[in-house]
Parts: sequence; structure tokens; C-alpha cells
Amino acid sequence: MRLTLIATAALAVSGAPAPPRPVGLTVTASSVTARQGGIIAITVRSERPLPGLVLADGDRRSPLEREADGTVFRGLHGLDLAATTGARRVSFETPDGATSLAWSFHVTSGRFLVQRLSVDPRYVEVPKEELERVKADQARVAEAYRRSSAARLWTSFTRPLEAPSSGNFGARRVYNGKTQSFHAGSDLAAAEGTPVAAAGDGRVVLAGDLYFSGGTVLLDHGAGLFTQYFHLSRIDVTEGDSVVKGARLGASGHTGRVTGPHLHWGARLLGARVNPEDVLALPAWPLPAAHAPP
Ligand SMILES: [Zn+2]
Repeated sequence: MRLTLIATAALAVSGAPAPPRPVGLTVTASSVTARQGGIIAITVRSERPLPGLVLADGDRRSPLEREADGTVFRGLHGLDLAATTGARRVSFETPDGATSLAWSFHVTSGRFLVQRLSVDPRYVEVPKEELERVKADQARVAEAYRRSSAARLWTSFTRPLEAPSSGNFGARRVYNGKTQSFHAGSDLAAAEGTPVAAAGDGRVVLAGDLYFSGGTVLLDHGAGLFTQYFHLSRIDVTEGDSVVKGARLGASGHTGRVTGPHLHWGARLLGARVNPEDVLALPAWPLPAAHAPP
């Protein structure tokens, strides 16, 4: 269930010529409690136009999307699957940092599964001759995540194929009784060769064959949001392609570290590993006029 929180607070404008008049800000969020791996959709309304607002969470500062008149700001906040549980405080700040408004919410446990899996031993202890390749893959993925469009490209999302959620997002995994990792995606059951569609409008920032994730497509949806499609048997897009929601990316398979054919669907929001299923519930925000397609 989603709750709505409305908090109103006064934002003091410092450095303004005497005497500073407080700016009323109203924060509306899709939820005041977020699970580990969850996404909160935030709208901030200001009674007066502001040049910009950033959401500051520790060292992370992400600009909110500004509506043309400067009184409405929107953004998504992602909680990594390993985020610390409990009360969390973030703030909304003008870009110069001179003014800020604190806002609190609660992070609850994702209650993730523990899965013990048997896979080809070469995916538990990477053979020496493959180490260079694994390193190159990591660099390639990191580079792809740096290629994000600053502007939001998505308006809504759909499942990449028709299959129920396996519910294994965030699972702590033990491979062949030793290696441990977190499962940063949701596995969708799919026979080999099932068409895989783009979950939302975006741009292909990586399309290729990687050691662990096999046939891989990464989509940039702008404003720091990416979706991932792993273990594909074929890829029908190339890097740089623009895709619309529902466009065919390729077909499911069992390439890379798998126990059988399926689609691994993942999402990443400003560096946080979030549950891809959560993008399906995002509000259908209109694109700002400046970035709307012609
Ligand atoms: Zn998976």
C-alpha cells in the first residue's frame, strides 16, 4: 500500500536583502516508508519560483526536475538494497546550497530471501584466463552508467515480458556453497527465445556479451534511472539506439551465470540497486516542455 505524506515547511532564504522572507515548500511523497531497494517519487511545490532544487542525501546530490514556472519540482529517490534501515533524513536545497529544508522518512527491511544455487564452477572461481575479460566488462559497465542523459526520458514503464515476478530481488545468494552476493534484480521465467521488450523509453548505453550477465542490454531512461536485461540469447539493438517502451531489445536465454533460461531484469537509480518492479508503479509525470519529443 502506498501512503501520501504532505509536509509543509518554511525555507529561509539566506543572503537576501533584509529581512529574509520564508519560502513555503510542500513535499509530497509516494510513501513515507520505503523498503530496502524501493523507490520514492517526490514532488516539491514552492509558493515562489526557485531557480532549482537538489535532493541531498549524504554526499549524493541529485537535481530535481523543474517545471517551467519554477514552482514545481519532481524526482525519484532510490534506496539501495543494502541501505541501512531506520530513520533517514535528506534535504532539499537550492543549487547554491544557501537554503535547505530537511525531510525524513523511514527505511524498512526488504525481507529478502536466501538462495543456494549451483552453477558452472567457472562462474564461482573465474579462470585465470578470463580475469582480464571480467575486469574489462566491469569498466565497460561503469562507463555505460556514466553516459546518463540528464533529462528524464521515461513517462511510464511496462514489464519486459509477460511473466510474474519471481520475488527474488535482493536475495542473498550462495553459489556452490561458497561465493556470496546480493541479487540486484528480479528473475522472470521465460523459455529460451522469448521476446524481451524495453521497459520504458530510453537509450541503449550497452549492448553486448559479458562474462557474468551473458547477452546484456543496459537502457538509460534519463535522470539517473537505468534498466538491465541479462542472459539474452540474442540482441536486436545497438549502443546509441533510442528505444520506446515496448520496443524489442532481443530474446531471453541462458547465457552467463545462470541455472536455466530466464530474463534477469534489474534497475539502478542514481547508483542505488533498486527493485525493477517498483518502476511499474511510478506516477505518469508529464515530460517537461523543454525535453518533450517534437
Ligand atoms: Zn537474476
